Amino acid sequence: MKTKIFSLFFFLFFLCLTVNAQTTGKYVLVIHGGAGGMDEQMPDSLKQLYLTSLDEALEIGSLIMASGGSSIDAVEKVINYLEDNPLFNAGKGAVLTSEGKAEMDAAIMSGKDLSCGSVTGLKTIKNPISLARAVMEKSPHVFLAGLGAEKFAKEVGIKSVNPKYFIENNRYEKWIKERNEIKKKKKGTVGAVALDKYGNLAAATSTGGMSMKKPGRVGDAPIIGAGTYANNKTCAVSCTGWGEKFIKNTVAFNVSAMMEYKNMSLNDAANEMIHKRLNPNDGGLIAVDKDGNFTLQFNTQSMLRGFATSDGKREVKIWGK
Ligand code: ASP
Repeated sequence: MKTKIFSLFFFLFFLCLTVNAQTTGKYVLVIHGGAGGMDEQMPDSLKQLYLTSLDEALEIGSLIMASGGSSIDAVEKVINYLEDNPLFNAGKGAVLTSEGKAEMDAAIMSGKDLSCGSVTGLKTIKNPISLARAVMEKSPHVFLAGLGAEKFAKEVGIKSVNPKYFIENNRYEKWIKERNEIKKKKKGTVGAVALDKYGNLAAATSTGGMSMKKPGRVGDAPIIGAGTYANNKTCAVSCTGWGEKFIKNTVAFNVSAMMEYKNMSLNDAANEMIHKRLNPNDGGLIAVDKDGNFTLQFNTQSMLRGFATSDGKREVKIWGK
């Protein structure tokens, strides 16, 4: 933990030295840690752990943007933290396939120039969102899958781990129980969207997908326009929920398209997708627009979520609206 704080400190220090572009002074960060599946009866100590983790993630991203860092750096670092946190269905806490293995997806997108990177079917990459960013910045491609993606990770020096790393504590027992119940879960996933002081939007989503999914299944998170999208003309969006439904409804892009083509507000566009096009219990999304308006909407009972803004608004929540 100490090394992490140290490296964040140095990252911020160098950021302060290098940043001198014109800024609006305004930033917004919105995050989610998955829609649905949170039992209101869970022990208070666990509730508190979730809330504290969301708050720490907000702290990481806000510090970056407050010191003049970019939205793309903020969303990547926020997701890295959530990927390393076993409470969430991404990286370390990824849920398992029907064969008991972690297979992870992630995507990142910059609203500035629509550049983006996606990865799917990862079995050994510690921080899938960083590999997605490398695809965006260091390859001529947008989307890499499976072994090819993992080979590319080696080429660009992205950390890989033994697949056992992802199977933490009781995840395996839970998987056996779920397999026996043939129960499909629609929860998990982490996402972040941000508007930085330069007016640039960014979105990032990382997930282990749906528990008990077939090996090789690809969800909405790494599909640009389905679970992740950012465009400086409109907004940045990250979705969570039943991926197949989000793919069929091209949810993230449609929020942006309704703003661009129909002049709808961010709030109305998100409401249209989550409450009119999708069905109850399908999931939710977080989004921020180019003017700093933001929204967190879901049609499930719960969505782990939070936001922090440069004018001091900050909140983390699990249930309620
Ligand atoms: N949307 C993710 C998927 O379908 C899962 C989730 O958000 O919980 O892979």
